[in-house]
Amino acid sequence: MTYRVTLIPGDGVGPELSEATRRVLEATGVGFEWEVQEAGADVMDRYGTPLPEHVLESIRRNGVAIKGPITTPVGTGFRSVNVALRKELDLYCCLRPCKWYPGVRSRYQDVDVVICRENHEDLYAGIEFEVGQPETRKLIDFISELSGRTIREDSGISIKPISVHGTQRIVRYAFEYARKYGRRKVTAVHKANIMKFSDGLFLATAREVAEGYADIEFEDRIVDNLSMQLVQRPEEYDVLVLPNLYGDIVSDLCAGLIGGLGVAPGANIGDTAAVFEATHGSAPKYKGMNRVNPMAMMLSGVLMLRHLDEQAAADRLEAAIAAVIAEGASVTYDMKPTRDDPTAVGTSQVADAVIEKLQTAA
Ligand code: NAD
Repeated sequence: MTYRVTLIPGDGVGPELSEATRRVLEATGVGFEWEVQEAGADVMDRYGTPLPEHVLESIRRNGVAIKGPITTPVGTGFRSVNVALRKELDLYCCLRPCKWYPGVRSRYQDVDVVICRENHEDLYAGIEFEVGQPETRKLIDFISELSGRTIREDSGISIKPISVHGTQRIVRYAFEYARKYGRRKVTAVHKANIMKFSDGLFLATAREVAEGYADIEFEDRIVDNLSMQLVQRPEEYDVLVLPNLYGDIVSDLCAGLIGGLGVAPGANIGDTAAVFEATHGSAPKYKGMNRVNPMAMMLSGVLMLRHLDEQAAADRLEAAIAAVIAEGASVTYDMKPTRDDPTAVGTSQVADAVIEKLQTAA
């Protein structure tokens, strides 16, 4: 079977990472027909937008995309392509498996946590009122009238909507993921003791959804307590489901637990499309230098293979990457004991080493 997949190389170090990832995915023996699509600042002149409609069309048609990072220029009014993709394709789950591989230098071992972060709601909904603006003053008056509570005049306000619908689908996704991949427990994360009508609704809805999954353990944690426990006993956690803001912060915390950005894969998933990409950005200062670590994007490729139900190929690619990490020879500078280690190899040499492992195992 051949899969038609949209490949967005991205910019900065994106194209070299995408090339390395394409090569290892093809070396698994799974057939791919790549629909290469450009997005980002470089296509602005040609199409008047960093995310042309034909790129979205391609992902909608294929249902699956893998992308390199895309730079969001600061102070240009340029809308983030990454955020726009999530909105336009309704990719409501940001999936971040955080797994430690032997050989990765980290303070922690035996970490294997999967994060399901809600992608659209919460304080990230973008409903904001600037300090001193007439609408903000109106809102302050309205809130005072409705609730009898006073907000200082010199306040800026960000709104935090959390819905039953948004919560149901992210929690269901977490349980379905747990079931599919033989996970034992789902933990819902919140601050329901303080925010009773937003996080409280998230928790109540999560509990209701959990009733439909009696085969999987369910528990909840207050986000501050969870943060401390993740640092002390990360091995106790399995699948975490979180509203947007806590999900953002806890994802990075967990990436730190497993050795950092070079090995942190990710995906943004909806009901009809999924986009696989590393957690890190476009690291522009390393552009074209064949220097940065392709493993986070390659591991995102492993997630893509699993999403396509190519479990055997996913296992083989993951094992090949793990073997290269464990040997510690053909790895980039960030995985060596010191950053100026002369034995560090480049991006494409990591791909060569992974391909060699795949071929030896075949
Ligand atoms: P970044 O992740 O690009 O880089 C931060 C630092 O992390 C780099 O200087 C480098 O030292 C290190 N690093 C990152 N990836 C690495 C890799 N694969 N191997 C080795 N080292 C690596 O973060 P930033 O500098 O904040 O962002 C740069 C640009 O990327 C910004 O425009 C940002 O908006 C964008 N960005 C895009 C995405 C995405 O496309 N999904 C995600 C995050 C940031």
